Amino acid sequence: MAIMRVSNLKKSYGNLEVLKNVTFEIEKNDVVAIIGPSGSGKSTMLRSLVYLEQINGGSIQVGTEYLVQDGTYATSQEIKRMTSKMGMVFQHFNLFPHLTVKENLELAPKIVKGEGEAEIRKRSEELLAKVGLSDKAGAYPAKLSGGQKQRVAIARALMMKPEILLFDEPTSALDPELTGEVLQVIKQLAEEHMTMIVVTHEMGFAREVANRVMFMDNGEFIESGEPESFFTNPKTERAKAFLQRV
Ligand code: ADP
Ligand code: MG
Repeated sequence: MAIMRVSNLKKSYGNLEVLKNVTFEIEKNDVVAIIGPSGSGKSTMLRSLVYLEQINGGSIQVGTEYLVQDGTYATSQEIKRMTSKMGMVFQHFNLFPHLTVKENLELAPKIVKGEGEAEIRKRSEELLAKVGLSDKAGAYPAKLSGGQKQRVAIARALMMKPEILLFDEPTSALDPELTGEVLQVIKQLAEEHMTMIVVTHEMGFAREVANRVMFMDNGEFIESGEPESFFTNPKTERAKAFLQRV
């Protein structure tokens, strides 16, 4: 069953057409790697899915509901409900610097309410253990390495029990020796069948962990397929040229 359907998405900044005609579906348990050159529209696409950007045309369906249908958005209440099913992890972590690790995790669930403090605390402890950072619960983000910050960001996204997790180049801001610990956490989530979309430049990771690769160039998906066949035998010239460069 598709848990997300995107069709004919269009987005421009002034005269610059950033998303031309983006169409794809995400099935439950999919781990989709999105690759493509810098400036091709990957971040804009991802941000549009969680309503951090507004699109100019097309549709985004979350489950059976439309976030936006033929360019017309749902009500703000409906949008809130749909975007709460999605968690986002950014390249630059976006942790709250004035809050401890534990407070970063617990803030959103406390604001949303409907859940007791004990329940929230229990989940934050479990998730910090899951990403190997139980000993950092009381630390402030400035005291953490980039890899640790990103693992906190992943745990924070999981606090909201998302149905789908979106990653925008989660390791691009990290020193090379710190990427492994973050990719390992994402790989573990894949093994637990978390549904994920991962924009990444880590081709080895995409090949190993994703069940589908989608190649974006110039505001469109040009080619998609199973990682093995995509990486060994890309069909389009543009994908071939891109893979030769990276
Ligand atoms: P990618 O993530 O693939 O590198 P982006 O989605 O960040 O690509 O950017 C796609 C294009 O949109 C780029 O040409 C970029 O300069 C432009 N762009 C992105 N955000 C904005 C913005 N807020 N205002 C104007 N242009 C933007
Ligand atoms: Mg980007």
